[in-house]
Amino acid sequence: MLHKVERQDDYRHKGLRKQLVDILREKGIKDEKVLAAIEAIPRHFFLDPAFERQAYEDRAFPILADQTISQPYTVAYQSQLLEIKKFDKVLEIGTGSAYQACVLAELGALVYSIERQKKLYDYIGEFFFIKKYPNIKRMYGDGYEGAPSFAPFDKVIVTAAAPYIPPKLIEQLKPGGIAVIPVGDDEGQKMMRITKDKDGSVHEEELGDFSFVPMLTGRNK
Ligand code: SAH
Repeated sequence: MLHKVERQDDYRHKGLRKQLVDILREKGIKDEKVLAAIEAIPRHFFLDPAFERQAYEDRAFPILADQTISQPYTVAYQSQLLEIKKFDKVLEIGTGSAYQACVLAELGALVYSIERQKKLYDYIGEFFFIKKYPNIKRMYGDGYEGAPSFAPFDKVIVTAAAPYIPPKLIEQLKPGGIAVIPVGDDEGQKMMRITKDKDGSVHEEELGDFSFVPMLTGRNK
């Protein structure tokens, strides 16, 4: 499997990545730490070698099992909303290609990432690049349940379209924590930012329009 084999990150890839970061800046991403993380991570490693150029276009791309690697703008936008600090415990729902997880790990977070598709979960276990980040813990399970044995979390990020805000994910958020969840159906979703105050009260903000693959219930073999 190609995925297991180390790949090159040369000056051309780095140049394309710089251009991508400029595009994200023009589109309104301001958090320099997030931009630096995107500049540091070879996104082409997450795609088949035949699609190296596409890796640095600002768009989502199909990966295994009918799933997608999120658009770089979306990854940057969600990461920026989370205001990641070093050693933040972050729960991610929807590991997918693990690109978002690597961006969070590069920002210094302790990432707990859940994937419901066994095939994808196993595939990422073989991925050479994931080994660079011992601060990513991956789990095979249903994201609606969260990860109660590792709760509470400083931050929660959902990278699939949730039909509603999953209550267990908000329960597992620390006071002072932030959750970023796209909520809607297959026609489109609104990015929701949910903050939990020190006293435990919860506030919701509705932000921009996005388009994710659906957050499904249960695990899939
Ligand atoms: N974060 C990913 C984007 C993945 S696309 C990346 O950076 O590439 C969304 C992923 O969410 C898919 O892999 C899908 O299988 C997964 N998913 C959907 N519903 C889920 C659920 N209930 N629990 C865990 N993962 C889920």
